[in-house]
Amino acid sequence: MERKYADIIIDISHEKLDKTFQYVIPERLWEKVEVGTCVLAPFGKGNRLRKGYVARIGGQAAYAPEKLKEIADVERNAISAEERYIALAAWMKEQYGSTLIAALKTVLPIKQKVRKLERKSCKLLLDAGEAEELLRSCEGKRQTAKTRLLKELIQARELPMPWITGKLHISSQTVKSLEGQGAVEVLSESSYRNPVKIADNATDARMEAYKKEKCLNEEQRAAADGILADFDAGRRGTCLIHGITGSGKTEVYLEIIEGMIKRGKQAIVLIPEIALTYQTLLRFYARFGDRVSVMNSTLSQGEKYDQCERAKKGEIDVVIGPRSALFTPFSRLGVIIIDEEHEGTYKSESMPKYHARETAEKIASMQDAAVVLGSATPSLEAYYRAKTGKYKLYELKQRQPGRELPSVCTVDLREELRQGNRSIFSRKLRGLLEERLEKGEQSILFLNRRGYAGFVSCRSCGYVMKCPHCDVSLSEHAGGKLVCHYCGYTRPGVSGCPACGSKYILGFRAGTQQIEEAVRKEFPKARVLRMDADSTRTKDSYEGILNSFANGEADILLGTQMIVKGHDFPDVTLVGILAADLSLHVNDYRAGERTFQLLTQAAGRAGRGKKPGEVVIQTYDPGHYSIVHAANQDYSGFYEEEIMYREMLSYPPAAHMLAILAASPVEEEGMRLAEKIGELLKESGGSDGKDALRVIGPAAASVGKIQDIYRFMIYVKHADGGKLIEAKNAVEAFLEERQEKGEAGKETVQFDFDPLRSY
Ligand code: ADP
Ligand code: ZN
Ligand code: ZN
Repeated sequence: MERKYADIIIDISHEKLDKTFQYVIPERLWEKVEVGTCVLAPFGKGNRLRKGYVARIGGQAAYAPEKLKEIADVERNAISAEERYIALAAWMKEQYGSTLIAALKTVLPIKQKVRKLERKSCKLLLDAGEAEELLRSCEGKRQTAKTRLLKELIQARELPMPWITGKLHISSQTVKSLEGQGAVEVLSESSYRNPVKIADNATDARMEAYKKEKCLNEEQRAAADGILADFDAGRRGTCLIHGITGSGKTEVYLEIIEGMIKRGKQAIVLIPEIALTYQTLLRFYARFGDRVSVMNSTLSQGEKYDQCERAKKGEIDVVIGPRSALFTPFSRLGVIIIDEEHEGTYKSESMPKYHARETAEKIASMQDAAVVLGSATPSLEAYYRAKTGKYKLYELKQRQPGRELPSVCTVDLREELRQGNRSIFSRKLRGLLEERLEKGEQSILFLNRRGYAGFVSCRSCGYVMKCPHCDVSLSEHAGGKLVCHYCGYTRPGVSGCPACGSKYILGFRAGTQQIEEAVRKEFPKARVLRMDADSTRTKDSYEGILNSFANGEADILLGTQMIVKGHDFPDVTLVGILAADLSLHVNDYRAGERTFQLLTQAAGRAGRGKKPGEVVIQTYDPGHYSIVHAANQDYSGFYEEEIMYREMLSYPPAAHMLAILAASPVEEEGMRLAEKIGELLKESGGSDGKDALRVIGPAAASVGKIQDIYRFMIYVKHADGGKLIEAKNAVEAFLEERQEKGEAGKETVQFDFDPLRSY
């Protein structure tokens, strides 16, 4: 192939410049420039040298060759993007809508080379007799530093250099002088920075328990064997392991990974939060030792760089981390495992707004690997695909014998009010808490305030103010007016409940701090720990709170959704859920799903040890299907009802949805752009009939202004996701044209496919 021209992605995140630019590759660089190479090229006014990545190389010029500029050089300190990263970035740009360079930066695990860590030591080369002789001669010459060093080396034979210069305060000059005499040798060994720091905990009781060989039960065995058998038969694809809380999904992952390692393959394990890294790592380390590493944003540049090097060289087999660990550069990838796949953290919040599940599937198909998803409460997406045959489904329906699921009861808070109980504790929950305190057993109190958005509800009958057009709750704005953030419907506030006339209809306000005070007042003797975003600003305080609770230093752990995830406290026998419905009335079509997941996961924290557990769900809405099914721990019952609702209203996964956010510092400009985009989509998407795009909006976003930037939303729905990508491409083309005509102002546009959040 002639290597004359290169298409380059210039390192500027600007929509206007989001294309490749062609350059001539000068002959002196022919050997050095590959697809993915980071180069320096003259660009823009004054031909400033800019970094860029080579996306394609060819022998043909697309324009008049004499007009093309030359690449100046290759950038020596940068890491080249391997070819597959360029391909992955191109896929991301198409799939999620972002600039190419933003997509490329997302998929590149590291951009800069970092110097190797060197470990130097000083070794004695003399035998005992020779050393003693030299020592005496040094003493004779009053060379005290040399004397001291020789004495130490006669004892130890070899010492690390930092110890010699640091602890012994002997200069490297002295060492050099001894080296010149042929008495010692300075050895240098390059080593990797290792972020895995386990050694001190090797005796950890948890570690011991993890090390014990486990014999998988029948369901676990079926899942692990089935997945490996498919792999051996060359069948690739995605499997979903739906296992109730505590059913042993992690044991299945470990088994699959062991099988992969035996086959010479590597594994990526995604976890929903960095905070869960240590406990997951501990468990994997017990099984695979140094072959496991971690990858996340708390690592230093050097640590990240070294983990990538180790991964490339095949020195590690397993990497654990959040979403971004997907991009670990393994060359023999066998499987990507996504634990708690339903968690919202798997979706990126910034452009490109990619979902780890879909991206994992893309990476797996590029590298001939398998994808395994696991959850006790699968996302509707994953379960829908399992039901429709796109994913293979494995079910784990039991916990280990003697650790059965807890018993759950639901308390109607409206009834409590009728009986004159205005406390945040129902009589039932208070009674059970007292009992636990007497017996010295632990309890968890969970305040569900996920996505809390100021909805208005009636304390007497549970009625919630909703939009008549959208089936989402209205949000209370300043001045008391109520607004629908999906369609813009607005109405004045209410002084009485439209359903029962009660005057106790108001916005819900509750914080963990207020609840902590209430707990202390009602149970003055109880030792209480609180865990929420405020009390866990630093990583250590998070671990600290969890550890002291695990060590029995408190009776009650009070917290928000942070305490729900993945923790294993064997001594907890009671879980109280204080406001089960708080997450139901968020103006979001996923509110029911999220509530079910939170309640089921919270309930799953009880009874994980030898003693059975109890759960109390307090709610104003005991008849809501999310709460009823969570109380029965009945996933499929919930799924059937939820999917019917999604199908009826064409929400994902029954259909696909694209949220387009148009923002501008000038309100009218933002609105006008949103309107234009809306018209464009309505025109291009076909007018009516089944195949037409459904365009909803524009309307002001739920947070209509952030930092003086006005935000407007358009939602587009279609059964076929491909149609939405076409719609996005049409909007991008329109924006580009506008830009070229010089009609664009300061507006920006963002895309979010199958959004997990409301705008
Ligand atoms: P999940 O990941 O589904 O929540 P875990 O894998 O954490 O469940 O398992 C819950 C508990 O049960 C853990 O303490 C684990 O060690 C134990 N366990 C799981 N499977 C087995 C097994 N086959 N034999 C013995 N103990 C098991
Ligand atoms: Zn509405
Ligand atoms: Zn009412």
